[in-house]
Amino acid sequence: MTRPAKKVAVLFTACLAVILALLPIADGARWGEVVLAVLLLTGSATTLISVSSKAPWTAGRRWLGAAGLAVCLVGIALMRDSVGPSAGYGPLIFLPVLWSALERRRRDLAFVLVGVALVYFTPLLLGLDRYPTTQWRGAILMVVVSGGIGYAVIELVEHVRNEAGRSAAILGAMGEGFALTRDGVIVQVNPALTAITGFPESELLGMGAPFAFWPPESAEVNAGLLRRVVAEGGGSFAIELVRRDGTRFPAEISALPTDVGDGTRCFLNTVRDVTALRAHEDAQRRHAEQLASIADVLREIGHCDPLEVRPTICRTALALCDGAHAVSLWELGSDGALTTTATLPETTAPYRVAGSESEHGAHYVMRTGTPLFVAEAAASPHCDRRIIRLLGAESVLFIPIGLSDASSGARGALAISWPARRASATDNDMLLVGVLAGEAAIAMQRADLLGRLDELTRTDELTGLPNRRAWDELLVQELAVAERHGDALSVAMLDLDFFKRYNDEHGHLAGDRLLRAAAAAWQSTLRSSDVLARWGGEEFALMLPGCDGAGAARLIERLRGTLPDNVTFSAGVATSDGRTAPRALIDAADQALYSAKAGGRDRVVVG
Ligand code: GH3
Ligand code: MG
Ligand code: MG
Repeated sequence: MTRPAKKVAVLFTACLAVILALLPIADGARWGEVVLAVLLLTGSATTLISVSSKAPWTAGRRWLGAAGLAVCLVGIALMRDSVGPSAGYGPLIFLPVLWSALERRRRDLAFVLVGVALVYFTPLLLGLDRYPTTQWRGAILMVVVSGGIGYAVIELVEHVRNEAGRSAAILGAMGEGFALTRDGVIVQVNPALTAITGFPESELLGMGAPFAFWPPESAEVNAGLLRRVVAEGGGSFAIELVRRDGTRFPAEISALPTDVGDGTRCFLNTVRDVTALRAHEDAQRRHAEQLASIADVLREIGHCDPLEVRPTICRTALALCDGAHAVSLWELGSDGALTTTATLPETTAPYRVAGSESEHGAHYVMRTGTPLFVAEAAASPHCDRRIIRLLGAESVLFIPIGLSDASSGARGALAISWPARRASATDNDMLLVGVLAGEAAIAMQRADLLGRLDELTRTDELTGLPNRRAWDELLVQELAVAERHGDALSVAMLDLDFFKRYNDEHGHLAGDRLLRAAAAAWQSTLRSSDVLARWGGEEFALMLPGCDGAGAARLIERLRGTLPDNVTFSAGVATSDGRTAPRALIDAADQALYSAKAGGRDRVVVG
């Protein structure tokens, strides 16, 4: 039952009780009419209460109000008539007036006023005995006062409704949740609060501490907080709340003491769901961390060992992209095929994509210079099915690696993959990986230059063979390996015979050509694990891992007769027993070479 309906019910019930209470002292009453009047009044009261409270059976029957009023007026007229106009039942006439005024039914009020006039004037006009003509004044006053009261009440009700409507509109329009608490109990809420907490208004109203939207484990802490806020006369605080469905969210509550005019202790509480704000703050913090980490890694990329640049780029890309599980760095080989030069997780053999597969993501982004995101890797022509299966990738992002100077073109591509399908790469991922790709290009170029420089300092310019410096380093490495595995390692020193004479006879340039020819001929006969280096002048050093003295001698014998112009060479071999120092090994080979020369040249001596 709505509030006006309750009021009407109380009013009518009270009046009926009064009527019934007074009936026994009324003299000369016509009891048949009295009973009928009481029935009519009770019936009309029920009808009007039902209309006010919007009872289901009144729906669509707009005439019920007027009918109820008419019956009520007839009941009052009958009552007055049955017990006499001076019996004091006149004020009953205010009841239909008040009802139509409280219900803001202007037309019904006018109808009631006509009814009041009829009730009061009809008996006078008919000149009935019981109604002395002196009652004209009272009848006129009754009609006028009823009208005045009725229209004043309508104005008042409308004013109150407008005010309430305005407040409700303001509260409803507030994006923030709102709760008015009186003595710690919620007495008013707005729709935003029910939306935020998931609790319907009916459950929120009347709720007190511990509130149902407090997480149970923090009820005690929150109760303390509440006491403090009340003691301090309001305040703002951050708190975790739980929705009706059990999900939790961070909230900010601001409690403001307020006076609603009834002397009770009230607080206006605004409740803000700060999930989005916190997420935004988290994202910003993560962004700052990522930028810091990218700065760190860029420093690392810039300064790391040239050989470590590519794995470092992959590691960084993986760290920057949330949820990514694999990264590969693709670069063009001399045959036009794309090969991975670094992968995470590491693979035993590099992946390869032929140059003909020009739609592959890496080829594609290198050609277009723009990133490419593939949501469904398995079904995309931009991805290699086999690699996708091996990686267990669902979505892949390809980023070209190139300098901002477009003319230099992309030198490679990064492929970052996720194990779960994503609709798109986030702006954040794109931004960070874009920065990384730019820096990676610079770092790779620098690493390649350094690598080439390093190669140059280790390569003999004339023959293209490793020079003595490179050979020395390799020998230390290979001896360590041989020692660990208990393998033999032979070293041979090869020296062209009478090269000075050859130079003299054919010229220095021909001598150079001979040196190149010797290097190429010998190199082509050796295994990939053997190392031929130019030791200096017309002297070459040969390292034969896993080869004993006899094996080395056999191999060197195969090299004989490979030189043009019947030039011969002498060789000295020394074999490591696993503990020989590099210097001693070379000295021993040198000694054997000396013996070969001394023995007549064009021969091999095993030391
Ligand atoms: P042996 O049989 O005793 O080794 O006699 P050899 O003439 O080969 O040895 P020697 O040490 O007397 O002379 C080495 C010559 O190799 C001297 C030098 O002019 C020549 N030579 C060294 N480096 C180069 C080079 O880079 N190019 C050319 N064309 N000749 C070189
Ligand atoms: Mg010589
Ligand atoms: Mg020599």
